[in-house]
Amino acid sequence: MSSGKVSYLQWMLQVLRRSVDLAGFPEEVYQILSKPERVLMVSIPVRMDNGKLVVFEGYRVQHNSALGPYKGGIRFHPEVDLETDMALALGMTLKNSLNGLPYGGGKGAVKVDPKKLSQGELERLSRGYARAIAPLIGDLVDIPAPDVGTNPQIMAWMVDEYSKLKGYNVPGVFTAKPPDLWGNPVRLYSTGFGTAVAGRVAAEKYLGTFEGLRVSVHGFGNVGQYAALFSAKFGAKVVAVSDTSGTVYDPNGIDVELAIKVKESTGKVINYPKGEKIPDPDASLYVDCEVLMPSAIENVIREDNVNKVKAKVLSEGANGPTTPGAEKVLYERGAVIVPDIAANAGGVVMSYLEWVENLQWYWWSEEETLKRIESIMENNIKRLISKYESLRSEKGLVTMRDAAFVVAVERVYKAMKLRGWI
Ligand code: NAD
Repeated sequence: MSSGKVSYLQWMLQVLRRSVDLAGFPEEVYQILSKPERVLMVSIPVRMDNGKLVVFEGYRVQHNSALGPYKGGIRFHPEVDLETDMALALGMTLKNSLNGLPYGGGKGAVKVDPKKLSQGELERLSRGYARAIAPLIGDLVDIPAPDVGTNPQIMAWMVDEYSKLKGYNVPGVFTAKPPDLWGNPVRLYSTGFGTAVAGRVAAEKYLGTFEGLRVSVHGFGNVGQYAALFSAKFGAKVVAVSDTSGTVYDPNGIDVELAIKVKESTGKVINYPKGEKIPDPDASLYVDCEVLMPSAIENVIREDNVNKVKAKVLSEGANGPTTPGAEKVLYERGAVIVPDIAANAGGVVMSYLEWVENLQWYWWSEEETLKRIESIMENNIKRLISKYESLRSEKGLVTMRDAAFVVAVERVYKAMKLRGWI
């Protein structure tokens, strides 16, 4: 690119390159994983409410299937393009692999701003996209799920459309469906739960315990609320939470259930009745605490503010909250970061469990589902930490993010080797 700015695909390829080199995998691993196995581009004609026809562009990228069926979300966003979708699909191959799931990676997208569509237009677009990709997906082939701009209702329309085409119900072809249509109620809080589990496992390893530690959570949406709630349930003291309205700080501990109720009823966490109210939403990044869970948006911990961050253990609920420069500073200072690809995997682990339920036409209780997510997440984070520790002693300063990509590529590499692809 002429601006010198690296595209998301270029960045992902650099990550892949570094993992292959760091672990000493054969060059063929890079050659295969730097390209998707298959790409589908579709056009979806939709009759709008005003009678006009608009043709939307969509994609489904099937990146790698060495570990199992392709799996990854569908994004509805005005700025997606095929290149971004290819990068996201590669990311899913690595995320599914790292988290021990029997899946390859895929990703779908439609170039659209869903906020500008009526409910009827959104339904017609969702059904049209499902019809367009139907020849290449299936509950044992490619299993999409929601991503930015899509949600459980859209999955319900898509699973209905796909089932109609087949002539029988196929619940397992899309995941994160509504609980009343073959979904699982734990999906609502599985990502935040996983972020809390990741923080707990890392704190136990590096700080000796999680109980009684001070936790701060940046972002109080789907991920942040439940990361905070389960951190408190695991015995930590949640001292700060924030959303765009500001930060609530209470060194004696925040009543997270009350904070969630306040957020639900008023839309702003700053209306929480106790503690100190700080107008800066980023103040939660800087408060005195041992564990920080950045769970809002990307690039919030940067080189220009990293010196104010005091936490020793970070669990990244959000995607990409720490820039590479800030990450380096934190590691030099002795902090560790459980990277997003591991710390926010509770959702994809839940998707896997929902798919297993659907394939068997069987349902686990909420309690049983949560126990399964917890044990999968705990094992994944422990395996990642042990890889990080061994790479650190062999190769000097590497981050847990580096170790995560090495673990991810290694599993795909072994599967490809056993299958005789390389
Ligand atoms: P959300 O929209 O429900 O919540 C985002 C929260 O962040 C809101 O409370 C918002 O007020 C707050 N926020 C936004 N900008 C902020 C700022 N500058 N300072 C402080 N707070 C700010 O979104 P979500 O579903 O909770 O997702 C959060 C992050 O987690 C995103 O990066 C997303 O990609 C990632 N993620 C989510 C899931 C999931 O299952 N929801 C899964 C994996 C990754």
